[in-house]
Amino acid sequence: MPQAPAPEEMNVYQNAEVRFEVAAQKLGLEQGLYRYLKYPSKEVTLYIPVGLDNGQLEIFVGYRVLHSTVRGPGKGGIRFAPDVTLDEVRALATWMTWKCAVVNIPFGGAKGGVICDPRKMSRGELERLTRRYTAELSEWLGPERDVPAPDVGTSEQTMAWVMDTYAMHVRQATTAVVTGKPIELGGSAGRREATGRGVMICCDKALEKLRMKRDGCRVAIQGFGNVGSMAAKLMQEAGYKIVGLADISGGLYNEKGFEVGKAIDWVYNQKKSLTDYPGGGTKMSARDVLFQPCDIAIPAAIENQITEQNAKNVQARVLCEGANGPTTWQADAIIESKGIFTVPDILGNAGGVTVSYFEWVQDRQGFFWREQEVNERLYDVMTHTFDQVVRYAETHKVNNRIAAYMLAIDRVASALKLRGIYA
Ligand code: NAD
Repeated sequence: MPQAPAPEEMNVYQNAEVRFEVAAQKLGLEQGLYRYLKYPSKEVTLYIPVGLDNGQLEIFVGYRVLHSTVRGPGKGGIRFAPDVTLDEVRALATWMTWKCAVVNIPFGGAKGGVICDPRKMSRGELERLTRRYTAELSEWLGPERDVPAPDVGTSEQTMAWVMDTYAMHVRQATTAVVTGKPIELGGSAGRREATGRGVMICCDKALEKLRMKRDGCRVAIQGFGNVGSMAAKLMQEAGYKIVGLADISGGLYNEKGFEVGKAIDWVYNQKKSLTDYPGGGTKMSARDVLFQPCDIAIPAAIENQITEQNAKNVQARVLCEGANGPTTWQADAIIESKGIFTVPDILGNAGGVTVSYFEWVQDRQGFFWREQEVNERLYDVMTHTFDQVVRYAETHKVNNRIAAYMLAIDRVASALKLRGIYA
């Protein structure tokens, strides 16, 4: 039996901080800038009253953390989950700053979260929670201030409610206040698939680098939500063999490969549990899917899945992080020593925020692009960034994760120096 990971290993904020510190030190970042970038710019805790369907009044705790607006408005999702903590939201906000900087889009970093279990709430309860959360933040949000997007437990519908509530407060339609909206409300073609597509582009690039073939390349994916299911679907269509699938209900492994379209229909249209999917496969825990025989492992669910205790079990040649923070900093060294090629989260899942940026641009110009145009621009950003990160890693003799952080921190620090400190 593997030991349970030490509690401090599971603190995602510490995981974000350690990588920042290593990268800042290697960059020789001056002390003042280091201090400035280490801490968030603002944090708010909200106590959100919501009338439940049973007539009772419940108070939900929520957060919004603005880590940086140095390079542009804050950008980052809103998470609805039972285990949300302020530390987690802080870490996610920090990662957004680095992610936007690594793909070089003009945003800072932010993140929001509410402690709740959306699977146990009705649509009406979720709508009231979302609207009150947005109303409480109405002075903080805005196309030039802070622009939310979906994350774990929130969806296009949630973003539609955020937009509508904000619009009622500022008394004008403001589509650019959120991204990841339904297309009918100013969403972008290709946004739904964007994070999964970005994951696939990174996998394609990694295979090219390692001189491996795409056809039949075995992929195990943990997480079957927006990121995981879209990555699985697009990758299967492109010739990959999806041998592992998992969601909160558990995992499935089938060396012959799954028919992803049928699994999506099973989970999303028939509303059945992924682990009961009749398309074959051995049942296991959601985490174990990442440790099965495969060429590429894609964690695309939650944080802290690959730890010091289990990193030795990764059999893949490539680890491409679709989720934020799926690998603890203690696990990094083990993964590196095994020669596994890592695409770190701030690169691997940056396709989402890149197309969110395209959505914001389209909303602001009131002119919408065809899906092919969106996908081509996404491809350009992702391939260019991948090449930059890998080149930087080779030149500076650091791993891909630290290279991505160094590139990002350097960009934010340069912008900060140009702006100066307003006193
Ligand atoms: P989602 O809510 O659509 O899906 C989450 C998936 O993870 C679901 O299949 C759920 O069942 C599964 N899951 C939850 N807890 C689990 C557990 N303990 N073990 C195994 N599986 C579990 O969320 P999403 O938008 O797909 O986000 C997934 C990850 O990707 C998160 O880390 C998120 O921050 C990150 N991310 C999302 C986007 C985006 O555009 N949606 C962009 C960048 C990064």
